[in-house]
Amino acid sequence: MSDLYSKLVVVSGPSGAGKDTVVAKLLEKDSDISLSVSATTRAPRGSEQNGVEYYFLSVEDFLAKAENDGFIEHAQYGSNYYGTLKSDVEERLADGKTVVLVIEVQGAANIKKMYPQSLSIFIMPPSLEVLENRLRGRKTESEADIQKRLGIAAEEMKKSVDYDFTVVNDALEDAVNDAYNIIKNHNK
Ligand code: 5GP
Repeated sequence: MSDLYSKLVVVSGPSGAGKDTVVAKLLEKDSDISLSVSATTRAPRGSEQNGVEYYFLSVEDFLAKAENDGFIEHAQYGSNYYGTLKSDVEERLADGKTVVLVIEVQGAANIKKMYPQSLSIFIMPPSLEVLENRLRGRKTESEADIQKRLGIAAEEMKKSVDYDFTVVNDALEDAVNDAYNIIKNHNK
C-alpha cells in the first residue's frame, strides 16, 4: 500500500483562500482525482450534507473513532475536531485515484511525516486583506468566527514554507492550472 501513498495530495490554505474552489475545479478537470471526505464535529454550514462535504459526527463518536484508529490524522481547529478517515482514503487509493486531502497545517505536517512520498500544496490568498473580504463576503460565519479564522490564517501562512509547492490564488483559472500541473508532474 505504501507506494499508493505517492498519490496522496495534501492541500492546505487559510479559510477563505479559495482552496475548496480550486479543488472543486481540479475534480471537474480530471476524473482520476478524488476528494477524501473527512469527519468533523462542527455543525453543517448552509447546504452542506452528511457524507458529501463531511461526515458530521458528535464529539463522542469522533473521539471513539480516533480511539479505534479510524483516522490517518486528526486535529483540532478552532473549537472543533477534524479527521481524515482511513477507510475513505484507502478505498479511493485502491481504486487507483489521486486522492486530495483538504486539511489544516497540523494534519498536513503529520501526513508528510508519515508519507514523505505524498505531495503537499499550500493555497495562498493574494493578501490578508483579500482574505478578510472573501470571508466576510461568504456570510456564513459569525464575526467572532471570522476573527478567529483570520488569526489562524496569519499563523497558517507562515507554515507555507513547509509545503512542496505554494500556489497563489489571485486569478482562479491560473491557480487551478498551476495546481493541476504540479499534481501531474508529481506522479510522472
Ligand atoms: P471548515 O470548517 O472551514 O470546513 O474547515 C476548517 C479547517 O479544517 C480547514 O482548514 C480544513 O481544510 C480543515 N480540515 C478539514 N478536514 C480536515 C481533516 O480531516 N483533518 C485536518 N487536520 N483538517 C481538516
